[in-house]
Amino acid sequence: MPETVNAYAARSATGPLEPVTIERRDVGPHDVRIDIKYAGICHSDLHTVRGEWGPVGYPLVPGHEIAGIVTEVGPAVTRFSAGDRVGVGCLVDSCGECASCRRGEEQYCANGSIPTYNGTGRDGRPTQGGYAEAIVVTERFVCRIPDGLALDAAAPLLCAGITTWSPLRRWGAGPGKRVAVVGLGGLGHMGVKLAHALGAEVTVLSQSLKKREDGLALGAADYRATSDPATFAGLAESFDLIVNTVSAPIDLDAHLSLLAVDGVLVNLGAPPEPLSLHVSSLSLKRRVVTGSIIGGLRDTQEMLDFCAEHRLGAEIELIEAARVNDAYERVLASDVRYRFVIDTATLT
Ligand code: NAP
Ligand code: ZN
Repeated sequence: MPETVNAYAARSATGPLEPVTIERRDVGPHDVRIDIKYAGICHSDLHTVRGEWGPVGYPLVPGHEIAGIVTEVGPAVTRFSAGDRVGVGCLVDSCGECASCRRGEEQYCANGSIPTYNGTGRDGRPTQGGYAEAIVVTERFVCRIPDGLALDAAAPLLCAGITTWSPLRRWGAGPGKRVAVVGLGGLGHMGVKLAHALGAEVTVLSQSLKKREDGLALGAADYRATSDPATFAGLAESFDLIVNTVSAPIDLDAHLSLLAVDGVLVNLGAPPEPLSLHVSSLSLKRRVVTGSIIGGLRDTQEMLDFCAEHRLGAEIELIEAARVNDAYERVLASDVRYRFVIDTATLT
């Protein structure tokens, strides 16, 4: 018998999220059942719920920053047992056989990885995310949360953490590299912490100087406002890597002008609108503009272990489920310091 659990769901693109009950599948041979303790609120939850990225199946339970405790495992599970501290991110399945999956880059699965919510599970039923009391996930998509990390501060690492970690590693953030992080929200603040811990010199490019003190405390050496034209003139050609986490379109030409020769701008922010640029912004300095989406399971575990070693969690504001709709409004207003996390004990 599928289990019924309490959750919070959107019923439409415009209405508030409300309490619902959903069913979780029986624990299969390779499955892990997790009591969800905390669920982060990612801006992607808002884009999705509001239909900005395409069709949505309602009711929709968002949430892909999940931290909790294993309560039950299927007979074929080898890596987890009841009582383990674990996390689940943006994906709950993939083919496991294509070149990307074999490389540990399940997010680029040729046959379509299955998102944690607003997808279709292998059982043919809609996937539902982490704003819920429990979830059942195949073992391969479960990560271990090391003891050194508090579960609530670890939850956002499962998306904001891995999404910034992956391009920082891919493009060599480390000693001697100058990295700019655009937007100091959920992704941005983890980008600053991780790039700093990797040894890079970090600058925050924010809309204003309102969060300057925080940015410097998170590890940035410099903090500039993009609303001030002097920022672009003063920092011309001064970065090796720019990580753009803004949820709305940015002026690509202006930001590219901040890159040195062979510098790379990685887009992580995913606004529904297209971005445009002048080719000369690339060619005159052989610059690269690219994008990246989350990260594979192996890298996610590597990031969690790195965070435990360096004592890095997300800066969170813990909320009860009934405050989800207020939290959404505050995320839209860039008024989040720096990730809302739902205490799922308040779902009952
Ligand atoms: P967030 O917490 O809302 O942070 C976004 C930040 O961008 C804000 O805090 C704000 O920082 C800045 N910003 C917002 N609106 C802006 C505007 N109109 N102009 C300039 N700056 C603006 O969001 P998040 O959860 O970090 O997610 C950020 C984006 O990344 C979203 O589009 C999300 O869907 C996407 N995302 C992508 C991936 C991926 O795999 N690629 C994964 C997760 C999320 P300041 O106040 O400092 O300017
Ligand atoms: Zn996310």
